[in-house]
Amino acid sequence: MAVMKFGGTSVGTAKAMQQAISIVAREEQQAAPLVVLSACSGITNKLVHIADAAGRSALQEAMALAKEVRLFHLGLLDELIESAALKEELALKINALADRLERLIEGVDIVGELTERSRDMFCSFGELFSTTVFAAAMQELGHKVEWLDARTLMITDDNFGFARPLQDECEANTLGIIRPLLEAGTTVVTQGYIGSTKDGRTTTLGRGGSDLTASLFGAWLCDNSIQIWTDVDGVMTCDPRLVPEARSIRVMTFSEAAELAYLGAKVLHPDTIAPAVEKNIPVYVLNSLHPDAKGTIITNDPERLSGMSYDGLVKSIAVKKGQCIINVRSNRMMGRHGFMNELFTVFARYGVSVEMISTSEVSVSLTVDDQNYSAELIGELEKSFGEVDIEHHVATISVVGDNLRMSKGVAGRIFSALKDVNLRMISQGASEINVGFVVGEPEVVTAVKNLHREFFSGREGEGIFEKPAGSK
Ligand code: ASP
Ligand code: MG
Repeated sequence: MAVMKFGGTSVGTAKAMQQAISIVAREEQQAAPLVVLSACSGITNKLVHIADAAGRSALQEAMALAKEVRLFHLGLLDELIESAALKEELALKINALADRLERLIEGVDIVGELTERSRDMFCSFGELFSTTVFAAAMQELGHKVEWLDARTLMITDDNFGFARPLQDECEANTLGIIRPLLEAGTTVVTQGYIGSTKDGRTTTLGRGGSDLTASLFGAWLCDNSIQIWTDVDGVMTCDPRLVPEARSIRVMTFSEAAELAYLGAKVLHPDTIAPAVEKNIPVYVLNSLHPDAKGTIITNDPERLSGMSYDGLVKSIAVKKGQCIINVRSNRMMGRHGFMNELFTVFARYGVSVEMISTSEVSVSLTVDDQNYSAELIGELEKSFGEVDIEHHVATISVVGDNLRMSKGVAGRIFSALKDVNLRMISQGASEINVGFVVGEPEVVTAVKNLHREFFSGREGEGIFEKPAGSK
């Protein structure tokens, strides 16, 4: 039994859905899987937009977007489903969902206020639409399939917008409802990302939460694998748009994958890792456009996988653009304690997350997302601490690999590879499996190219690397 999660682009068009269904069909030859779907690509963003418009009482705007959502899914089923009877039955379901969405818009418009609770209601529609169409298409093709409403399985706390599951209830539901169906050879299709409180209020797990759903169900089912199907060839040595020689990496440890996710690799939601780690269930990151490519296996036990040992230092290079450096300089800092605490309290109060820091006796430099801080925050820093300056348009680059932990001379290799690049900040992660630095955005390509050459050239042929399918 496997848990198979398909992301938004893997179910974003009729063709993508057909492809995903054929991937599910292959798995069914082994055993019936649990299929967890995202909303079709772009739909959750649209729903967020609709929610905001409704909250501002921009009724026309919200209704126009809701119509687009309705028509998109009706179009999808039109392309996918052949039988007129099934088409009609499914159109009723899609229209019923779209009608509910419109009623919600009207409700929020009348109340004149968008609460977190109603925002989650809006956001839940995307996955309800995508799974409804998908399950019907599977049914038409003769699969033994059952659609389940995740809100009857994934019972969460009431932290709307970022709800977390109540373990005992969820595990009991998974074992009591999903497992017997799978054991009877029925494929189960359900929604990622959404859940409900004990008293039946719809919740979401936070943007990108479908991966977490898949990994939680996998952990509760204690399954043999979790497959995350996306539109990239697993985890790569770096972004192939920056370096054409980028390779997909066959195997990574959980800590490497988690680190990469935090550092900007767009492959996995970091929280995905935790439930799988606990039960030591391997997570496969696969490309639904190239289902035969091997993808990446994330496991804490890579030694078990023969032919995939790796003695190289760096596994992957992650880049996060759109950052800025905030430099805080203060004479008050010298020899004092409690300074950092005060400084971070200010960032916490404004809800701004700090990515990288580096300090000296009189100054602290930190990076934050360039979109994410306010003039008020800077004003408060100036008032409390002294001189503050900001450098925009920088990117963090991190090299990650478990083998960095024990190795000498890594910094030397990094810095000689980057001798022509202006390094604005440097920081070595406490986990010791990453070294990070900051460069101006125009220098990202040169920096990553040079690092990739330094750490990967000559290694491309090793068993742990795979040329991405579809690349020349
Ligand atoms: N559809 C949700 C989102 O776009 C959840 C997900 O795709 O994981 O954030
Ligand atoms: Mg996603």
